[in-house]
Amino acid sequence: MPGLLEGKSALVTGAASGIGRAAALAFAREGAWVAASDRNLDAAKGTVRAIEAAGGQAVAIACDVTEDAQVAAMVAAAVEAFGSLDCAFNNAGIAPYQLNSAGVLAADLEEAAWLGLIDVNLHGVWRCLRHEVAQMRKQGGGAIVNTASILGLVGSGGAASYVAGKHAVVGLTKAAAIDHAPENIRVNAVCPGYIETPMTEETMRRRGEAIMARVPLARMGTPEEIAEAVVWMCSDRAGFVTGACWQVDGGYTAR
Ligand code: NAD
Repeated sequence: MPGLLEGKSALVTGAASGIGRAAALAFAREGAWVAASDRNLDAAKGTVRAIEAAGGQAVAIACDVTEDAQVAAMVAAAVEAFGSLDCAFNNAGIAPYQLNSAGVLAADLEEAAWLGLIDVNLHGVWRCLRHEVAQMRKQGGGAIVNTASILGLVGSGGAASYVAGKHAVVGLTKAAAIDHAPENIRVNAVCPGYIETPMTEETMRRRGEAIMARVPLARMGTPEEIAEAVVWMCSDRAGFVTGACWQVDGGYTAR
């Protein structure tokens, strides 16, 4: 049976680790050529090697999504490699602990920590989206998925910049879906719950039991379970799906 994305090209940011790596492998498994992008080029090359070992085709691209010129070059490199950009997964992101602001109350955040996180998690998604849309427009369409979070739908203590940034990704997704629907570009978001990646290791060590008590399925999700939803939303099977923000969260936000 042909894959869901046979003959298409896909760009993934944050493809060196966790959800992005799993999504890059899933895109390839479904028949897409993959541009695996990350600010950590060596680790992105590891993703490419895994795709090639499984018989897929991929290129690694270095890009820090806080630099607009690098984002423009990333999209150009993906198009140069594969001739088009059919699918894009804007997934690169960081957590508050990476800026030493985990657990800090909203009003007590340092401005640098606030801006630093928003610049990656929100502005990074917007920078990617704008360059991807410019390309998809020329081709007559495409599909974009942004990584939001359950914390783009509900709040959480001690994580104001992350919660605000992810809520804004949900808003950007809806606005861009409306704006670009006439150009045949679909824009959706995935809202993962607590997923087994390097990003959640520290949080789970500190608060794992309390978090799991709030997840109806009583476990963490796997990066592969997020990748399934992303691949489907990018595929033609989801042709009528745009502006959706899909929770894949073990029931966390159903409470
Ligand atoms: P991860 O830390 O395993 O992977 C994140 C990747 O993004 C890394 O490879 C990192 O190098 C890259 N990255 C970070 N900043 C970057 C930048 N400025 N430019 C380019 N690349 C950059 O984390 P993950 O859990 O796979 O997270 C992926 C996305 O999923 C993030 O947007 C995160 O907020 C979101 N998310 C994760 C969870 C979870 O439970 N793991 C839940 C909800 C949402």
